[in-house]
Amino acid sequence: MEILSHPSPALKLVAQPVDPTTDVDLKSLVEKMARAMYEAPGIGLAATQVGVMKRVIVYDLDDRLVALCNPVITRHSEQTEVVEEGCLSLLGLEIPIERPVAVSCEAVDLQGDPVRIEADELLARLLQHEIDHLNGIIILDRATPEERKSAIKRYMELTQAHSR
Ligand SMILES: [Zn+2]
Repeated sequence: MEILSHPSPALKLVAQPVDPTTDVDLKSLVEKMARAMYEAPGIGLAATQVGVMKRVIVYDLDDRLVALCNPVITRHSEQTEVVEEGCLSLLGLEIPIERPVAVSCEAVDLQGDPVRIEADELLARLLQHEIDHLNGIIILDRATPEERKSAIKRYMELTQAHSR
């Protein structure tokens, strides 16, 4: 399963909610996504990044694979922080992105049972990043206009260097 790179049009699409109790393809999708994420290697991946328009994300921050369906941020801290962020669809780029430091996230697991996560720091950032993907938003869209301009320039240099 290949991870799509910017500017793939699929990265701009909004994913559809899933029902884990009836979607028989979900388990194999999650397995394939996890494999692609570990191979990259990365710490998180959204289904839209492999061209599947389902609201599913996987991540692994502490040697434990987590898969979430239909994740939503239900609360976030007033306090924000600017941290350099990378993305498996924009390999080689790190862009400073401002996000809330802490969030509450609600989702369902692969059995369809509700999951509630109170997250801060890296996990909070990861959840916001992956949920952005499900809404067709990548880090370039979150960057300041100046950062965005310089990031696009760096990215073009990187991708041209690769194809040479
Ligand atoms: Zn990403």
